[in-house]
Amino acid sequence: MKEKTFIIAIDGYSSCGKSTLAKTLAVKLGFTFIDTGAMYRAVTLYFLKNEVDFEDKEALERALAEIDIHIQNKDGENRLFLNGKDVSVDIRQMYVSDRVSEVSALKEVREAMVRQQRELGERTNIVMDGRDIGTVVFPHADLKIFMTASPEVRTQRRYEELLQKGEKISLEEVAVNLKHRDNIDTTREVSPLKKAEDAVFLDNSKMSREEQLDFVLDLVKERM
Ligand code: C5P
Repeated sequence: MKEKTFIIAIDGYSSCGKSTLAKTLAVKLGFTFIDTGAMYRAVTLYFLKNEVDFEDKEALERALAEIDIHIQNKDGENRLFLNGKDVSVDIRQMYVSDRVSEVSALKEVREAMVRQQRELGERTNIVMDGRDIGTVVFPHADLKIFMTASPEVRTQRRYEELLQKGEKISLEEVAVNLKHRDNIDTTREVSPLKKAEDAVFLDNSKMSREEQLDFVLDLVKERM
């Protein structure tokens, strides 16, 4: 019989450091890291580049059938390939961030992504981060973490990250984008962002990366 995989689900608000924690955790444990936000960003990029009218259900289904997403996991880093092309940098641009929550709220998009995410979790031990991993994708995950940080801390972190990448953006624009995404993500009809009842709450506003890692590693040890 196939051995059961160990699944760690990390959910939470935009820019609270989910991927950073998930990545370091995966490297430490020798697990595969999957950034599901990147998958939704790739679909958004495809829709925008191909001017898909996603209000039109037929056009939406057609476009989804044309999308092939492949994640390469190397040393904890995710490279995302959209129809064979590495779009890991493109999906982080602001014009994608501005529309991604709208696209992610579509039922058809979520169904396609969740299917793929579940398949990944059946094959290998994983740390997966997103908005609905502990509630919808893996309701029986071995460990669930729900992360947050104050809006000011999250805005500052994302602002610095974008500046480092050379994006010309103001702190105000970042704050508006985060608020906009949090709002759509928590109020959408399909799989809204919310804490799973059995998730461990982690507010990292005043925690270092090492402290967060140690906190979660202790929980992993308990449950393994
Ligand atoms: O994690 P990241 O901020 O890159 O995610 C981008 C967007 O993708 C989120 O704001 C949310 O709208 C969507 N998302 C989602 N479900 C997930 C992961 C991300 O709806 N599991």
